Amino acid sequence: MGRLKGPRPELADLTTYDAREPHVEINLSANENPANLPHELVANMAKRLPEVAFNRYPDPMATALRTQIADANGLDPGNVIMGNGGDELIFDLMLAWGGPGRTLLSTPPTFAMYEIDAKLTGTTIVEVPRRSKDFSLDEKAVLARLAQGGIDIVMISNPNNPTGNLAPETFLIDVLKATDALVLIDEAYFEFSRHTMRPHMERHPNLVILRTFSKAFSLAGLRVGYLLANEEVVSELTKVRQPYSVDRFSQWVAGMVFRERVVFEAQIQELLRHRDVVEHGLSRIPHVKVFGSEANFVLFRVERAAAVWRDLLHSHGILVRDVSRVPGCDECLRVTIGSERENRAFLTAMEELMRQRRESDMFGTTSNDEHDAATTVLGPLS
Ligand code: PMP
Repeated sequence: MGRLKGPRPELADLTTYDAREPHVEINLSANENPANLPHELVANMAKRLPEVAFNRYPDPMATALRTQIADANGLDPGNVIMGNGGDELIFDLMLAWGGPGRTLLSTPPTFAMYEIDAKLTGTTIVEVPRRSKDFSLDEKAVLARLAQGGIDIVMISNPNNPTGNLAPETFLIDVLKATDALVLIDEAYFEFSRHTMRPHMERHPNLVILRTFSKAFSLAGLRVGYLLANEEVVSELTKVRQPYSVDRFSQWVAGMVFRERVVFEAQIQELLRHRDVVEHGLSRIPHVKVFGSEANFVLFRVERAAAVWRDLLHSHGILVRDVSRVPGCDECLRVTIGSERENRAFLTAMEELMRQRRESDMFGTTSNDEHDAATTVLGPLS
């Protein structure tokens, strides 16, 4: 009989990300853009595809792309580092600034990868939970914890996934002043919120900003993200990163998308209008509490949320994100803003199933549905 030694003990309390894509008609679970790339852009790429030297390794630092991004942000290329999606950059940050004997300050409920990457790298996690009423940050508690010292890296999703709210800029400045720890402000949803900490980079060398092509720029399928940071931070990160993580094709496509980014503006505005419709539509349904959002998704609270999640999926073919088991998000679901048709289908389904529920509650036929464990334990991974 062969034997196999187990892996690092830290893996024991981690779960595999089950990336199975359930076959659903309407997927509003991953904060993706409902629209593929504009047709003309794809047609132009198709014409120019022979330019791509598929046989050659990519430029490790994606010089052309990082220069474009630096120019657009009034920075030098040395202030930009590209990654295989924002996810990889979060991992790189944790590899370089976290690790055994180092500490992350996080403000849950928030993006699940911060905690997962901290665990993977043996980083200690200090949590300062958000207020349960509205998911605002407990500013005093965060600043008090920073004042105690011993924090090496802070990660704040802004707007926050899965709650959708923004932190006050003045508070984020206070955080930057209160610590010499690296402070990641995760602006994955920047193109929707229009709020950025970019103007504070010069004064605060500990500020790092994360952005992604996965949301507003419809490129979740390619995996391209970037950090804006102090040159020294970028230089340290180049020591831990996988040299070829952003492949040649992705660099090429992202470059064209970034160059043509004004064409996405109308679509972003439309999505924001649709978000208002979804927020308003949900808020009119009895027993549904909606949390205001600055991103391309909306969090809402409803009794027996797991049952609502299941009914949406099984009776209406609509997949939303069940975050009801994420500490602090009890009875909450997160819905991504989709196309107009998808949003309408979602609202109609919600109205219908909540009406059915009221009727069955009146006749006392309610059952307490089982939770669908597989979808809930992991929290917002996308
Ligand atoms: N940060 C936040 C807050 C996110 O929600 C996401 C994606 N869901 C990411 C970072 C990473 O996105 P990607 O890896 O697709 O760039």
